[in-house]
Amino acid sequence: MDTTSPASPPPSDARRSLTTEAVHAGREDLTALGVHAAPLDLSTTYPSPDSRGEAARLDAFAATGAQLSGPPVYARLDNPTTARFERALARLEGTESAVAFASGMAALSAVLLARGAAGLRHVVAVRPLYGCSDHLLESGLLGTEVSWAEPEEVAAALRPDTGLVLAETPANPTLVETDLDALAERCGDVPLLVDNTFATPVLQRPREHGAALVLHSATKYLGGHGDVLGGAVACDEEQARALRQIRFATGGVLHPLAGYLLLRGLSTLPVRMRAQSAGAAEIARRLAADPRVARVHYPRLGGAMVAFEVEGDPHAVIGAVRLITPAVSLGSVDTLIQHPGSISHRIVAAEDRRAAGISDRLLRMSVGLEDVEDLWRDLDAALAASAGSASGPERPAVPATVPAH
Ligand SMILES: *Cc1c(COP(=O)(O)O)cnc(C)c1O
Repeated sequence: MDTTSPASPPPSDARRSLTTEAVHAGREDLTALGVHAAPLDLSTTYPSPDSRGEAARLDAFAATGAQLSGPPVYARLDNPTTARFERALARLEGTESAVAFASGMAALSAVLLARGAAGLRHVVAVRPLYGCSDHLLESGLLGTEVSWAEPEEVAAALRPDTGLVLAETPANPTLVETDLDALAERCGDVPLLVDNTFATPVLQRPREHGAALVLHSATKYLGGHGDVLGGAVACDEEQARALRQIRFATGGVLHPLAGYLLLRGLSTLPVRMRAQSAGAAEIARRLAADPRVARVHYPRLGGAMVAFEVEGDPHAVIGAVRLITPAVSLGSVDTLIQHPGSISHRIVAAEDRRAAGISDRLLRMSVGLEDVEDLWRDLDAALAASAGSASGPERPAVPATVPAH
């Protein structure tokens, strides 16, 4: 059995580079366990022969939300495989702690519930956001109330009951960037949550720019292979305690196999990000020079996402790619393309979508590790199909009731 205490101290060598941390962080306990690869512990429960002792440990968790010391008790409380991923992500983001969840949306929900439980139900958010994050706030499903604001308007939008400011940069799907230092200053004492899914800690560490909470859809670059759903919040230990209590009570835990795959994914994150970003920058350069393309969005920060508006029919591009997979989601080793107006941001009302700069002609591409020449040949043929297509982009590809992914 993998009985590591999840509270093992992090290594003290602060000079290690992110590339080295990505390979080694979270694995500090393996030598003592006598193994080289991280073990996968699938237990849902653990032997507890000392009930009195367990009662005291559970009381301590209920009172503080601090991670249990000693062996695990039950898989909804903690799991050593997942804890390794959490320790590693905290190292990479430069935060004290990280708390993993079943998905990015479960992670965001836990933050909103934790703030709501503290009596702070009002959220100030900057558009655009990932479609379902927008929907979660706009719908008020979790009892929150949202004020949408431009980054410059955030200070004016704060109220005494504001519990959170939320922003994405580069944002999904337009890749618009926000100056985090300036935004954090406008938040005052209100914690700023930055969704760092697109940049990853390889390109941007929001904690160093004043963010209190860093959100990841780990489903994307952290996993990196399109085969694991997960989410995480990197933050200080005080916030992490509140999030662990919410996770225990609401049950949105990351499956240990997902924790195993995510730790494995982190070890190649820096090399994947660098290689995929180089491919994306070259694709963005070629698109910008292409007369069939009206506008290209590529962040100053870099990254492996490219968004572009076509002159012709965007649905024809989606229908014509052969090497590139026409699919929602992003961050995998293979290239994906999708039409945000039809899929990832379909659940956002059309007028809100357009006001946030999400044109009906916008396509969002997640560039993988393929050879750029092969990708360009495929995209070039798909753009030829769109330029030759008579139908405009107004026709919806899916019914309006299909929720975004
Ligand atoms: C996908 C995504 C999410 C939601 O994550 P899931 O893992 O799908 O729940 C949140 N934010 C961003 C920026 C995303 O791309």
